[in-house]
Amino acid sequence: MKITFPYMGTTLAYKKFLDLLGHETISPPKPNQRTFDLGVKYSPEFACFPLKVITGSYLEAVEQGAEVIVTSGGHGPCRAGFYGELHRKILHSMGYDVDVIVIDSIRRDFKTVMQNIRRIKGKNSWRKLLWAARLTYRLIKALDDFEMQIQTKAAYEVSKGDCWRTWDKIQGILENIWTDRELEAAQKRCQKIIDQIPIREVPEEEKIRIGIVGEIYVVMESSVNMQIEKVLGDFGCEVRRSHYLSQWLDDNVMPKFLGKSREEEILKKGEKYIQIQIGGHAKETMGHIVDYRDQGFDGVIHLMPFGCLPELVCQSIMPKAMEELNIPVLTIALDEQTGIANNLTRIEAFIDLIKNKKRKRISRAG
Ligand code: SF4
Repeated sequence: MKITFPYMGTTLAYKKFLDLLGHETISPPKPNQRTFDLGVKYSPEFACFPLKVITGSYLEAVEQGAEVIVTSGGHGPCRAGFYGELHRKILHSMGYDVDVIVIDSIRRDFKTVMQNIRRIKGKNSWRKLLWAARLTYRLIKALDDFEMQIQTKAAYEVSKGDCWRTWDKIQGILENIWTDRELEAAQKRCQKIIDQIPIREVPEEEKIRIGIVGEIYVVMESSVNMQIEKVLGDFGCEVRRSHYLSQWLDDNVMPKFLGKSREEEILKKGEKYIQIQIGGHAKETMGHIVDYRDQGFDGVIHLMPFGCLPELVCQSIMPKAMEELNIPVLTIALDEQTGIANNLTRIEAFIDLIKNKKRKRISRAG
């Protein structure tokens, strides 16, 4: 069976896991205008933007022969929990006989998750499945670690574009690992390449750190968020996201007794602004803003997909949160027609404001 998966951030890890188990995989192309057009055409008009992009992405994979879609699930009172079913219905109504396997949080529905894992395991032994899962998890950790280093260094690179070119190179290297030993050797090689990127020395007090929060898909997928991390790096800002794949796994897949989940801590921080789960990552969005303030970040960019009620609620809370937390937040709404020029101007003005504030603080202290 030919298996595909959603395109979110990178497909490298999902593909590696399925390849290690001997499946034939089809990677959807990185979302582009055609993906958006297909998604908009075949999704319900008032569906949220990520659902439409993923519809387009699946259609492109199905055109290449994909028969099964493996995707993560969702929960709470928004559409996240219905993506699997909705996409199955859309594809079936178009005449594509595609199966959708949804891997939800193991902590919420152990039985169904195990049934679906068994399907992905196929004829492989449990031992092999665990080995493939462990190697993929280590790969994802390595990817996230390298990406964070790039997100930091890009702010100070001497030659524009060096860091993100290196990131592409790193993904190319890690794509070719098939064993633990190969992964370790590749990690050393990648670290060496990152360490060699020339950067400018910037005094600690002049550094600007920006957190990106919001709905998981638009935060993680650069093709729908105007490559916001690159944009901020070009403006001389270090960047961190509220969502990384390894953290999602720690929060949703790792047993709680390993004590790895940061989710509870973040949810607790967001409780002051949103007391109940209203769907998506709204509570996390507010919690991460509090967390970035606690970590001394200089500002936050809040990404909100068109048609997303949970993030719309966050946007309405933002003026109060900004005042109480004393941290600037810029909300950017994203859809298939998002104009880059307009948002670039807003981001530039936002960063200028932060820089001026910082300069004033430094001159007062001096
Ligand atoms: S969080 Fe927002 S964008 Fe994501 S599924 Fe829910 S409504 Fe859609």
